[in-house]
Amino acid sequence: MSPSKISIATLGSHTALQILKGAKDEGFKTVLVCLKSRLSLYGRFKKLIDEIVVVDSFAETASSEVQDKLLSLNAILIPHGSLIEYTDLETIEKRFKVPIFGNKYILRWEADRNLKERLLREAGARTPRVYTNIDEVDGVVIVKLPGAKGGRGYFLASKPSDVRKKLEELKISEDHVFVQEYILGVTSYIHFFYSPLTSELELISMDRRYETNADGLGRLPAHIQVETSPDLSFLVVGNIPIVLRESLLEEVFRIGEGLVEASKKLIPPGFIGPFCIEGAYDGEGKFYVFEFSARIVAGTNIYIYGSPYTWLIYDEPMSMGKRIAREIKRACEEGKLDLLIT
Ligand code: AMP
Repeated sequence: MSPSKISIATLGSHTALQILKGAKDEGFKTVLVCLKSRLSLYGRFKKLIDEIVVVDSFAETASSEVQDKLLSLNAILIPHGSLIEYTDLETIEKRFKVPIFGNKYILRWEADRNLKERLLREAGARTPRVYTNIDEVDGVVIVKLPGAKGGRGYFLASKPSDVRKKLEELKISEDHVFVQEYILGVTSYIHFFYSPLTSELELISMDRRYETNADGLGRLPAHIQVETSPDLSFLVVGNIPIVLRESLLEEVFRIGEGLVEASKKLIPPGFIGPFCIEGAYDGEGKFYVFEFSARIVAGTNIYIYGSPYTWLIYDEPMSMGKRIAREIKRACEEGKLDLLIT
């Protein structure tokens, strides 16, 4: 199929601008599913958008009107964090008629903490200890509350009694929380692209998240922290670049390859396109993975003009959005689009 017959669609949020730009650069028509309230924002980038589908809420993306409209435009929908946050997974799996770039069945593994742990273990990644029994807490832990979005509502504690006291205050049952060893060190989020066309794993870029108010806390002198005991939040407000010591790259590739293999085994056909491993280096330089994302992450927005790593592979600016479009274009030309969509 000719790429000129296909449109690339996404929701107006998260990484939409780089997805649209990348699609345009590769010669695709573009479609933006846009909230009425954000028309003026995306209007500022109108040269990137061929068609706008206006909705009152992103949940409407699943409606037959929007699905039919996308189908009539021959669209492939690029999923990102906002699609997952505002549309429920069952709807994406069962009711979406428009083809989705990537393996939409992995999104559930990203969202469910137990499935996530299973995939990470199968991949052979080092993960922080998970405490199923609060009495065993013997060091700093991060307590992840059910339904906490964007890291809001997590808290830190270092003793069983502190975990319980805080849960009582919050009126949350012990059975519903995820208590994980807190890795004191440098967080790092590694953005990969796996190409089913070449069976190659590419390191696209990496970032650190700027999280408020966890990142603001270090500016308070210790005595003020003690006096005021501010509530902690890990709400992401932006991303900052990082490159790793070159000697650390081998390990991240090993983890990335492990995840690709594990995903092929557990959720065939496995990862397609972008995914991200999210973790931290401790004081000994050991990397612990506490999360993964099975789709493009917002940290790639730093690199719309390419990253140090893409520059090593591509002699042109290459963003994650453009890399996605390049893969779709190549698959169209080779008649292999089926390998990329679900
Ligand atoms: P998550 O919702 O799991 O992505 O976590 C949100 C943020 O909490 C991360 O970006 C980290 O800053 C922090 N975080 C989560 N889990 C851990 C951990 N086990 N050790 C250290 N920091 C963590």
